[in-house]
Amino acid sequence: MAEQLLQSLGVTTPGEIDVEAIAWEAGASVRYGALESCEARIIGYRDRAIITVRDGGDWRRRRFSIAHELGHWHFHRGRSSICRASEIGSPRQQGPALERQADGYAADLLMPAYLFRPMAAAYKRPSFEVVEALAKEFSTSRLATALRFVDLSPWPCLIVCHGPEGRRWFRRGPDIPTHWFPQNDLDPESSAMDVLYGKIGWSAPSLIGADAWFDRWNADRFNLVEQSVKGHGDEVFTLLTLTDGAMLD
Ligand SMILES: [Zn+2]
Repeated sequence: MAEQLLQSLGVTTPGEIDVEAIAWEAGASVRYGALESCEARIIGYRDRAIITVRDGGDWRRRRFSIAHELGHWHFHRGRSSICRASEIGSPRQQGPALERQADGYAADLLMPAYLFRPMAAAYKRPSFEVVEALAKEFSTSRLATALRFVDLSPWPCLIVCHGPEGRRWFRRGPDIPTHWFPQNDLDPESSAMDVLYGKIGWSAPSLIGADAWFDRWNADRFNLVEQSVKGHGDEVFTLLTLTDGAMLD
């Protein structure tokens, strides 16, 4: 639905996605202010609404927050929404359904598949460098872009997030069988370990046995490509690419 809207506005490049102008078209005006207990909110009355986004911080994140509120306006019109930072752009798929729906709308609006798919596919192989390049093109955060990349890239990928206490969340691409479930703990062989403990900020894509990531009975038969980058605070994101087609059977 967000994509139809973009196409009706004649958007043919990511740079043309002007989220405040789109909000205006939809009857919502955008304000920035000092919000205490939330990151963004929308208050609507009949066919007009006011979106307020917390001042400061990363502008790519503010853009996503506006798009998220537009998702509420599209799907949940008639109710006001007050959204905390943890509810906007959350990688966890167990959160409240209304928030996930608003996030889905935001991803479709800011990184529409008809633009994102071909741009991702134009690269030779998946990596965080590619994710960064796409984030720059689409003016979206690394995390939001990485999640979209896993969903829409032509390669079978997963993104896994770990903290010192173990796995926090993961996102699996649509072609990956659900029995490939990442382990809770990082393997000492993995370069993710060096990133998590601050030896390096970013590892190069490299081949590793799939049993470093999955404890399934036949995992030791396969290799995959891993690459890790440091996230905010004490977390590490790892992009796993299943390079052995037999893992997809
Ligand atoms: Zn929300």
